[in-house]
Amino acid sequence: MATVEFDNVTKVFDDSANTIVAVEELDLEIQDGEFIVFVGPSGCGKSTTLRMAAGLETITDGQLRIGGQVVNNVSPKDRDIAMVFQSYALYPHKTVRGNMAYGLELSTDLTEAEINSRVEEAAEMMGIEDLLDKKPASLSGGQQQRVATGRAIVREPEVFLFDEPLSNLDAKLRKHMRTELSRIHSELDITTIYVTHDQEEAMTMSDRIVILNDGRLQQVGEPKEVYYQPANLFVADFIGSPSMNFLDVELEGNRLTNDRSFDFEVTDEFVDTLRSVSDGSEFTFGVRPENVRVDEDVSDSRAVKTTVEVVEVIGSDNFIYLDLDGKEFRVRSPSYVEPEEGEEVTITFDDEAIHLFDAKTSEALVHGTVTHESMEMPNPAKGEQERAVSD
Ligand code: ATP
Repeated sequence: MATVEFDNVTKVFDDSANTIVAVEELDLEIQDGEFIVFVGPSGCGKSTTLRMAAGLETITDGQLRIGGQVVNNVSPKDRDIAMVFQSYALYPHKTVRGNMAYGLELSTDLTEAEINSRVEEAAEMMGIEDLLDKKPASLSGGQQQRVATGRAIVREPEVFLFDEPLSNLDAKLRKHMRTELSRIHSELDITTIYVTHDQEEAMTMSDRIVILNDGRLQQVGEPKEVYYQPANLFVADFIGSPSMNFLDVELEGNRLTNDRSFDFEVTDEFVDTLRSVSDGSEFTFGVRPENVRVDEDVSDSRAVKTTVEVVEVIGSDNFIYLDLDGKEFRVRSPSYVEPEEGEEVTITFDDEAIHLFDAKTSEALVHGTVTHESMEMPNPAKGEQERAVSD
């Protein structure tokens, strides 16, 4: 087990036609035994970051340390890492046993008996003992995924690296394998870096989530933290499904308004909290779908009139899509709230559920009745700690 530290790490791809900054000045300390998930849209730099940790990409600038040792120029085989790829990368002509044993045969001086014992132990852990004599072609996608993970486990590495390992599986198996991988991690307690574009996977598996966009770190935090205290509009939009609703608003006295249908009175306490961090007047208002209440007839000062466009019944809940000044507004309601399509309804929310972002910088200002600045940020990335001290 080991810490993994990205210290101002930058990766630039420079070919004759283009210069692409894939990862820019990444500062991040991954703790010993931590399960970290990198998430972000396609092209945000998550695979490049993982490949730098694996030694499969060179580092343009900055320092990468594993277990306190600088590894910028250490080859992959000398890094004590094991990587599981999306494609599984199994040798088709070798049996499952052969695939799992091969890395150990190449890189260690363990005896055949010791290798066999490690392979059998890992196979038992992954529930593939019965498949040891089969070839990959005769295995299902889920079984191949287990073999690829088992092959990483037998290495007993300091760090596991997973690159979208579940994306070739169907939805049900993917959910099952998430639980399996989380179980394996708690059993082995090996530092794990896991890359996915699936925010639900990130939320359910990680100790901390690292959200990247355009090669830049947007936020690092525990799943609840990035959900309830998103650092900026990008994180607020990316994390959560259906995603957060946003509206451009102005603060006029005690009212957040867009000069059209949206006109929502907030408390003096809310205004004071906002004023402690911003003297601006233009904001982006955000509220999560599950924090919006739909009523057929509410006529108080905190009710906003809208029209129901679509109601989707998903069993436990209903997804209600509303039209608010020509913009889609999403609501997740208990199944007994079932307005008619085309019906006029009102929506309300509590101050505690409101997020306000700076309209110019997109940075979070207020979550509920607390400023973003004052929120507890457990284990902040090193860069954030340094900024907090120097600001
Ligand atoms: P995806 O989910 O699509 O795999 P990603 O977040 O993993 O995306 P990366 O593969 O890390 O993104 O790519 C980050 C950026 O670097 C992209 O703009 C990509 O086009 C570019 N890039 C990645 N590898 C290379 C390469 N070998 N040569 C040139 N550019 C590259």
